[in-house]
Amino acid sequence: MNMNLYGHDGQWLMVDCGVSFDEPLTPEYKDKSDGQRFDVVAPDPTFIASQKENLCGMVITHAHEDHVGAVPYLWQRLRCPIYTTPFTAEVLRRKLSETGLAGKVPIIEVDEASFCQVGPFQLEWLAVTHSIPEPYAIKITTALGTILHTADWKIDAQPITGKPFDAAMYRALGQTNILAMVGDSTNALKPGFSISERNCYDGLLATIRPLNGRVVVGCFGSNVARLISLARVAKKTGRYMALYGRSLINMYSIARKLNHWPDDLTLIDPAHVGYLPPQEVLAVATGSQGERRAALSRMARDEHHQLSLDKGDTVIFSSIVIPGNENSVEALIRQLQGLGVDTIHSENSTLPIHASGHPAAEELTLMYNWVRPQIAIPVHGEPEHLSAHAQIAKTAGVRKRYVGLNGDLYQLAPISGIRRQVIKTGRIPVRA
Ligand SMILES: [Zn+2]
Ligand SMILES: [Zn+2]
Repeated sequence: MNMNLYGHDGQWLMVDCGVSFDEPLTPEYKDKSDGQRFDVVAPDPTFIASQKENLCGMVITHAHEDHVGAVPYLWQRLRCPIYTTPFTAEVLRRKLSETGLAGKVPIIEVDEASFCQVGPFQLEWLAVTHSIPEPYAIKITTALGTILHTADWKIDAQPITGKPFDAAMYRALGQTNILAMVGDSTNALKPGFSISERNCYDGLLATIRPLNGRVVVGCFGSNVARLISLARVAKKTGRYMALYGRSLINMYSIARKLNHWPDDLTLIDPAHVGYLPPQEVLAVATGSQGERRAALSRMARDEHHQLSLDKGDTVIFSSIVIPGNENSVEALIRQLQGLGVDTIHSENSTLPIHASGHPAAEELTLMYNWVRPQIAIPVHGEPEHLSAHAQIAKTAGVRKRYVGLNGDLYQLAPISGIRRQVIKTGRIPVRA
């Protein structure tokens, strides 16, 4: 989960405000929670909430839960305007209406052409490619210099939704003396390049084309590009596609509303799928991590009221196993196989049926060669990812790399350095 604060001249700017789905709570909250399990946790905002008059705004880079998910729970304590793009704003508005904050939060919609001055921070929105519509890096300029906050990104020349990655724009940044680049370390340990969404489409088409029974694909609800690819595969293979799971249906409806969904791709009502011959079914379902209440698990237990699977059907996991979920995914696969259903997981498929949205080592190297910041600050990863990212920056010739932990203060100008554990951080429960 992400919550970054940039400070200048007595004012603060927050970049992203996300949740996480595991439960290592700060001990003081653990006592209060009385043994109750919390599935959703957020960063403890006490430091900034106690001086919210100095928080001049919040920027949300994209609509993933680890970047936007905590806003409905923490905004009451922060009460600042939020700057983001139309797709993310729509995702956020729907979340806010579920927590009684509809219409109460000032959301300022921006795009690449927008120039925002938020307190002492001048903001520019630079498009990247990632695994959700409208992902952005933020260029933050103050009187003392310019920072590139990349947020989550990869280099995708054929992203299915949105424009291809614009290398020229980042190359041009290299001429502008970027003080620091703060960015994604998720896949710093992976060599080479991430694969394109387009390759993933080809892999899914080749995987699904020879199958005869029903096909169910498990994927992350927010991956609109993957949904578009699957709808194209359905069209090409004579299948009808339907969505199972609230988050999938919600994302599809936002994508349609904001013109991210191609008009020629139609879906059918999930209630009608049961009447189709098996070879005409392509179901897309939530629950690729083995979540018990999600659609895939209910199908595996044969408890789904709209779709029942049989021998000869296939379940494809177009997703990774998020570390920590290995057992639940394995249990789900065993349950499906118990029904006689074939399973194909991206992690042991010979064809590419999942593409990561994060930069592998060679992409990080390219970005450093283009942007050429004075300082590299790896974030968004465990310590091993941050240090691998720093090593890549060093090899690419970045003079200073600061690797820290939550709560560290990175001083960038006029003299740079890192001050350890200046701010108390922690995890608070927000939803059971
Ligand atoms: Zn993301
Ligand atoms: Zn992220």
